[in-house]
Amino acid sequence: MSVSTAFAPAPADAVPAPLPVLGRDVSVPLVTGGEAGYAALDYAASAPALQRVWDDVAAYAPYYGSVHRGAGHLSQLSTELFENARRTVAEFLHCRDDDQVVFTRSTTDSLNLLARALPAGCEVYVFETEHHAALLPWREADVTFLDAPRSPEGAVRTLERALAGRDTARPALVCVTGASNVTGEVWPVRELAAAAHASGARIVLDAAQLVPHQAVSVRELDVDWIAFSGHKLYAPFGSGVLAGRADWLSAAEPYLAGGGASRTVARRADGSVEVEWHEGAARHEAGSPNVIGAYSIASACRALAEAGPETLAARERHLLGLLRAGLAEVPEVRVLSLFGDDAPRVGVLSFVVDGWNSSHLAAALSAEYGIGVRDGLFCAHPLVHALLGTNTAEQAGCGTGSLNAVRVSFGAGTPDEHITR
Ligand code: PLP
Repeated sequence: MSVSTAFAPAPADAVPAPLPVLGRDVSVPLVTGGEAGYAALDYAASAPALQRVWDDVAAYAPYYGSVHRGAGHLSQLSTELFENARRTVAEFLHCRDDDQVVFTRSTTDSLNLLARALPAGCEVYVFETEHHAALLPWREADVTFLDAPRSPEGAVRTLERALAGRDTARPALVCVTGASNVTGEVWPVRELAAAAHASGARIVLDAAQLVPHQAVSVRELDVDWIAFSGHKLYAPFGSGVLAGRADWLSAAEPYLAGGGASRTVARRADGSVEVEWHEGAARHEAGSPNVIGAYSIASACRALAEAGPETLAARERHLLGLLRAGLAEVPEVRVLSLFGDDAPRVGVLSFVVDGWNSSHLAAALSAEYGIGVRDGLFCAHPLVHALLGTNTAEQAGCGTGSLNAVRVSFGAGTPDEHITR
């Protein structure tokens, strides 16, 4: 595939992109004639895979065998790679020594797994601003939805107020996002964790939008669990992680029942079947695991750690600056924010343009400029309604355009030209 000649040559990036990604040479036809190099600005949905991940998988794939099952050489090699991937993820996240890393399908899967492992009588506290993956899994528990805060301090106060006077004999879980998939704003996770722990509650961090952009330490943030998805961390689809405290997970029924999760299975005298389940990560990883998915995540973790989180974050701040400067030239643009302009953000930003339908705008960016963004409510309907001031049941539909926003998101491998275009 060729790169378009429809645009002037891109200026050299002011801060070089340290990690190449796949798909940089895709050209798309434009309705105006000609073609353009595809500008992938929807990393928050799924980031392109790193070239390094692709190369690592290609080097490994011809040799894979069954995991935890076979006696043969390749089965043992696969098992070793799978378990090494677990250790790499634990190191990448700076987990505590006794934390467990469970491979799942995605962040959604990880949080649903934890929701199934809540102890009896557990209360759950969650801000209405969460992505639906973090908002909805707890609905069978005793859940309190907290109003959208308007500052990081406000978030901590809201949580403290909600937890004050709760019955501390009951177990409780707080679920928070690390960085919003709508505004890109970074949440005060450490302070929220302190507030949760002060009232005897535990906390799970939805880090789907945080780990691709910043170094994250489970120890330093003092969160009990963390969840993220491979496909947002520059690895392919289909794999995710839930890492953290072992006790609730070991006490729970397996998330999936089947081989791999069961240690022994026997018929009883009455004809029924008795099962002894494994402890540890295997308990929740029934069935043949996604070894290439786990391996890809580990490869991405290694690549990001080697490139240096601060190098990547500096590059992203530069791109964010370019984007904000460009948008500021258009008076009709309104950037969506809960915490205000100065709040720290990752490379995710949503906006509306007065007088424009966001769905039409996103379609025009694609058809006329070859730019791939996302429009909609970003699976965070209550948050977008709070931001747009459209929070009524009648207006809660998706796809109405004028009630949606446009989201731009980027990261490793994004050249300046994609933003300036
Ligand atoms: N949490 C956040 C903040 C997200 O942005 C997303 C996806 O956009 C998810 C959770 C769900 O991730 P997945 O679709 O990979 O399960």
